[in-house]
Amino acid sequence: MTAKRTALLSVSDKTGIAELACALAENGWRLLSTGGTARTLSLAGIPVIEVSSQTGFPEIMDGRVKTLHPMIHGGLLGRRGTDDAIMAEHGIDAIDLLVVNLYPFAQTAARPDCTVDEAIEQIDVGGPAMLRAAAKNHASVCVLCDPADYATTIGDLPDLPDAGRRRALAVKAFAHTAAYDSQISQWLAAQAQTGGLPPLLNLHLEQDQTLRYGENPHQAASLFRERGAAAAGLAGAQPLQGKAMSYNNLLDADAAWRAISTLGVEQPACVIVKHGNPCGAALGDDLEIAYDRALACDPTSAFGGIIAFNRELDETVARRVIERFVEVVLAPAASSAAKAVFQSKPNLRLLAPQPATPASLEIRGIDGGWLVQETDHDEADESAWRVATRRQPTAEEMADLRFAWSVARTVRSNAIVYARDQATIGIGAGQMSRVDSARIGAWKAADAGLELRGGAMASDAFFPFADSIETAAEHGIRTVIQPGGSMRDAEVIAACDHHDIAMILTGRRHFKH
Ligand code: 5GP
Repeated sequence: MTAKRTALLSVSDKTGIAELACALAENGWRLLSTGGTARTLSLAGIPVIEVSSQTGFPEIMDGRVKTLHPMIHGGLLGRRGTDDAIMAEHGIDAIDLLVVNLYPFAQTAARPDCTVDEAIEQIDVGGPAMLRAAAKNHASVCVLCDPADYATTIGDLPDLPDAGRRRALAVKAFAHTAAYDSQISQWLAAQAQTGGLPPLLNLHLEQDQTLRYGENPHQAASLFRERGAAAAGLAGAQPLQGKAMSYNNLLDADAAWRAISTLGVEQPACVIVKHGNPCGAALGDDLEIAYDRALACDPTSAFGGIIAFNRELDETVARRVIERFVEVVLAPAASSAAKAVFQSKPNLRLLAPQPATPASLEIRGIDGGWLVQETDHDEADESAWRVATRRQPTAEEMADLRFAWSVARTVRSNAIVYARDQATIGIGAGQMSRVDSARIGAWKAADAGLELRGGAMASDAFFPFADSIETAAEHGIRTVIQPGGSMRDAEVIAACDHHDIAMILTGRRHFKH
């Protein structure tokens, strides 16, 4: 090693820098440095050249521009052998060793008293640029971004670390700048959010829109979607008409969209949702019939509801729907005649969500934490179903049981759904005891002028007692579908047999808390 070699040292964390610089100087290296680092080295009595005197350009803008200069980047990036002539032409000196660590962005931004402006100033620009330049040119340049690597480098002097070691140090430098940029992007994304997400979720989700407010006007709220995912599904659907969707609209629309999905596409279907629960669901020969039958289940609750269909809407069904006050209508598509009908109701939101891969995880907040679970989008597996009673359901009864089971899994627990002719006729939702849901469903059927006699009853989870069966039997229910698995299954089965009810056990629970 005879030719004078050059090192550039520009570090926020000054740990060990004087020792390294001293060793370099003793081995005849020329040292370039930025303001603060140069001062530290000078104080330690080490001869150092300020970058500004090398470039002939002062540090400006409070340090925003210090080393961003072709004399520096040319010195780091110039290919030895290939670029020698051009370097000589412009008077660029090769830089063989770069020692940089970055402004402590994360530590500063994490301080509770840190202002946005302070954090922004801590975004290091020249440092990462130099680290990347030197790491790219590791064939000739050695890059150090961690004081822990100084000792071995000193040990190699007067030579540079060998090619393998330079490559390893380049890997480390790129990892360092990548981690640094991801801290900045997470922090910046969090600034834009109302309500703010914890950093981990922030990595996976990005804000799609700020909602007017949450469940109530004093609660700030936003809609997030998976980072980088295409706009699809309910979260990505823009209203074809009407005002922006509110937080509660989105929640209810999601319940309606999921419920209509569980009813499949073989037959025209309609689900009407209020406050997260279906208040009516039905199949029909066409969408208008399905709608009329869904509406008949609970016309009072359907006021201001969210209505989902499983087919393209035509003009007839659109006319029928706008006869009553409706918040949101969802369907895979709407004909232009149907759209024209809806336009007469400017406040009605019309959405045609494009199919999306259903979110595989659900996230809910609890006090001091978050719960994450897989989404319950299992297809019903009828091969696991078994008839537990003496009486077998008829084919017609089977169709109602299937339908009632599909709806029950979309109703909040404790969920009881009464159905006949593939339309709901009474729904008891979200009660703290199952028998109350059974009673409420029966009471609502009576209130709507509907007859439970001959119908099916579905329950999202097992019956802890036979009391719900007794309630159903009083109203003439003929079939029951439920997961089974209660300590008192025998009692429940005996009650069914006593009333000549046919009961299916599905073996699968669908709680929705
Ligand atoms: P010093 O304490 O030597 O004045 O500054 C060292 C810090 O400045 C290092 O963390 C380095 O990454 C950073 N730095 C070097 N050049 C530039 C530049 O051109 N712009 C900015 N913003 N930071 C730089």
